[in-house]
Amino acid sequence: MGQRCINMNSSKDLDSLVDDMYSAVIEATDGKELPDEAVEDFGERMKDVLRSWTQPHKQNKGLRMSSIGRPARQLWYDSREVDDRYKPKAATQIKFLYGHILEEVLLMLVRLSGHTVTDEQKEVVVDDIKGHMDCKIDGEVIDVKTASNFAFKKFSEGTLINDDSFGYMAQLAGYEAAEGTSEGGFLAINKESGELALFRPGTLSKPNVKKKIKELKEALTLDKPPSHCYTPIPEGKKGNEVLPRTCGYCPHKEQCWSDSNDGSGLRVFKYSNGYKYFTKVVSEPRVLEIT
Ligand code: SF4
Repeated sequence: MGQRCINMNSSKDLDSLVDDMYSAVIEATDGKELPDEAVEDFGERMKDVLRSWTQPHKQNKGLRMSSIGRPARQLWYDSREVDDRYKPKAATQIKFLYGHILEEVLLMLVRLSGHTVTDEQKEVVVDDIKGHMDCKIDGEVIDVKTASNFAFKKFSEGTLINDDSFGYMAQLAGYEAAEGTSEGGFLAINKESGELALFRPGTLSKPNVKKKIKELKEALTLDKPPSHCYTPIPEGKKGNEVLPRTCGYCPHKEQCWSDSNDGSGLRVFKYSNGYKYFTKVVSEPRVLEIT
């Protein structure tokens, strides 16, 4: 995507970002005409989003900055995947499209609010691991996130520090290590309510990226997968156990848990709120098994 830079002025404090964005929205929807330059820029960006959405995105199987926060065992399986098992469905592709559009809406509002956006999609490298940051705002690395109501709380309440299954903290720390900055964070929008949040985790809560990269590089050379990333959790009171939610989303779960249920592998049962993946069945669930 092309590098464009439209900023109204450039001396704002990042702490006031969300309030300034809300003010810009109120002004813009109160009859204040938007600068032509901003309107044209946004239109061009929408064209770029649409064009890049239609280009198949080939991810290489090695470590990337966007993956260094994920667990070693999951990355080990990723690196050995021989076929492209994961092909996004049409609905998922639509979700990707509006996710990209929403990110551009957020950055447009940042610019309208007078804050400075630079370094969009800049490539950075730490210990041979490459990545592309979303951008910097007012000189600090900012990752832009579009989130469900549930996920938004991780940013608005700062609970991401304790619940970061996608490894966002390590990704941010990686970009910052490359740039020599440390005051960045996440600009998130709640897709359901339109609320905004800026979460800037403290330096001590960010992982040591160089150490993490070293450990992951070693783990990926192992002949056998590293230990499980998560442990099964009790389901009911009769001794049954199921995979935690994060494993349920993992494309490697069947292979990873093939030893479960005394070697017969995962058993999958359909509940009214979705599938549950059993690693141990002591008492047969009274719902349809779809294994
Ligand atoms: S299924 Fe769970 S434990 Fe296994 S690789 Fe995936 S996330 Fe890790």
